[in-house]
Amino acid sequence: MGGGARSLRALPKAHLHLHFTGSMRHDTLLELAERDGISLPDSLVEDWPPRLSAADEKGWFRFQRLYDVARSVLRTEGDVRRLVLEAAEDDVADGGRWLEIQVDPSGYAARFGGITAFTDLVLDAVDAASRATGLGMAVVVAANRTRHPLDARALARLAAQYAGRGVVGFGLSNDERRGRTSEFAGAFRIAERAGLLLTPHGGELLGPDHVRECLDLLQARRLGHGVRSVEDPAVLARVVDSGVALEVCPVSNVALGVYSDLSSVPLPQLLAAGATVALGADDPLLFGSRLAGQYATMRAAHDLTDDQLAELARMSFRASCAPAELVRTGLADIDTWLSRPERMQA
Ligand SMILES: [Zn+2]
Repeated sequence: MGGGARSLRALPKAHLHLHFTGSMRHDTLLELAERDGISLPDSLVEDWPPRLSAADEKGWFRFQRLYDVARSVLRTEGDVRRLVLEAAEDDVADGGRWLEIQVDPSGYAARFGGITAFTDLVLDAVDAASRATGLGMAVVVAANRTRHPLDARALARLAAQYAGRGVVGFGLSNDERRGRTSEFAGAFRIAERAGLLLTPHGGELLGPDHVRECLDLLQARRLGHGVRSVEDPAVLARVVDSGVALEVCPVSNVALGVYSDLSSVPLPQLLAAGATVALGADDPLLFGSRLAGQYATMRAAHDLTDDQLAELARMSFRASCAPAELVRTGLADIDTWLSRPERMQA
């Protein structure tokens, strides 16, 4: 038995994989839907969290449909501000010190006056939430690989305009099996020239060959998921040697059927190989588990020691775009967490 007993909510962490829409509190979804008379599917009400599987395109489509429903309840500027504030509060409650929230402005452009106006709103909401909660926050602008690559270029140019002003990274999300990764290289070059972190989704629904494409064609410096790098020793070695961090989201992986259960998420193999891993919640609204839950489920499933959990937390800071001072403080506080006897903690 290696499992420790220190409070995982007290362990300082950086959160690098959280989608804007998917971060919504379930209670907030219900309240906003009620306000506007939007009828929600049972899987978002009494059967929440929904049972999903993305093993085939039909399953992924169902997941996206629920995502569309969640998006539809955000109608006002106040709704956007509330979502961001609550996401920040929930991360703080889970020991979060830094959050990079990922947003695809194109999904909200029609309702909020275009991608630029919506991005302005989100950045303002992030600034306000950060001040209110003390959580360090930044935005990753993500393109959608099921849309045209020209849309991705437009988003990359938008992200580039905000580089150093709240936007730290550029991503690529949605079903990996759709769209050709090579067609998004142009967008990633725009983001790269602006000095943004390049962090596409890869190695989740597709295997290590797609991780290789993300590295070769997009010059990814971090990977959304990337967990299936483990299936090819050469790819895994390359990920490790290049220091590309993996934003591993265990509860999401199981909910979407990437792995059958939490003990099958190959976190121990990734750690043994020396990979940099930052645990993330992905979409708590659809998967029912937030930041500390990722650490707790991995502790339980893999009998991780508190030393291992502390190292996971350290890696989350090191792989982040957080300011150096915030990283230093986070790492020091992780040492403090580890140095206190277990019984001293709540
Ligand atoms: Zn994701």
